[in-house]
Amino acid sequence: MMELALPDTPHPLPWQEAPAAVLAGLRGVLTDIDDTLTREGRIEPQALEAIGRLHAAGWPVIAVTGRPAGWSEPGLRSWPVAAIVAENGGVLLRRQGRSTVTYQYTVDDRQRAERFARLQACATQVLQQVPHARLALDSPGRHTDIAIDHSEHHHLDRAGQEAVLAVMRSHGLTATVSSIHINGWLGEHDKWSGAQWAVQAVLNRPLEPGRWIYVGDSTNDEVMFRRLPASVGVANIAASLPRLLHRPAWITQAERGGGFAEVAERLLRARTAG
Ligand SMILES: [Mg+2]
Repeated sequence: MMELALPDTPHPLPWQEAPAAVLAGLRGVLTDIDDTLTREGRIEPQALEAIGRLHAAGWPVIAVTGRPAGWSEPGLRSWPVAAIVAENGGVLLRRQGRSTVTYQYTVDDRQRAERFARLQACATQVLQQVPHARLALDSPGRHTDIAIDHSEHHHLDRAGQEAVLAVMRSHGLTATVSSIHINGWLGEHDKWSGAQWAVQAVLNRPLEPGRWIYVGDSTNDEVMFRRLPASVGVANIAASLPRLLHRPAWITQAERGGGFAEVAERLLRARTAG
């Protein structure tokens, strides 16, 4: 698989070389959270400041994460983002008034309960069959998926990760690997469908691919790199590039929150200039 870098998915170019004309057409920012805005689970100050500056300049920022709904809610309360898509498109969190956060799902309560039971059965089998596999510590906040930790608080090697993916897929789950977890869920949703859902809900218009930029760092961002012509990997994406068939168009110099701040800086200048 490592050799499958195709001619139409070249290595990302430096972000500073992104054409100003492309940036001038952009209107909104979609971003991953873990290791794109955060380091070791905490948002980096430069990323938070950059989101604040984008927000102040009228750029909607929507976060799209594999993290659970329960984990995402404090972020929505304290960061100036317009919405958070959690659980890889399974849950949309929005603010209502000053203190209420609403949760929306892709399916009704009955279907969600059925899926939840099937997911727990799959998780039980993963833990029985894959040596050293452990549930992610944020699992209690998960409403529509399950997650196995591979790099957050517990190490699971590549062979173990593949074994987890195989069990999840044998249960009919869609499964992806983020920088920290292996996530599995039932249903057709993914980060891309979640992003479309959020843009429609927040801005009351469809997501136009030429108008939004996506920032990410890992293999679970691949669907966004594939769908959006304007996509950026923060520098720490370098470790994941050999496993990406669809790579971001550009890569930043700095890692994590510093990389996100680089993206914001150029977007803000492009808007001012335009
Ligand atoms: Mg990430």
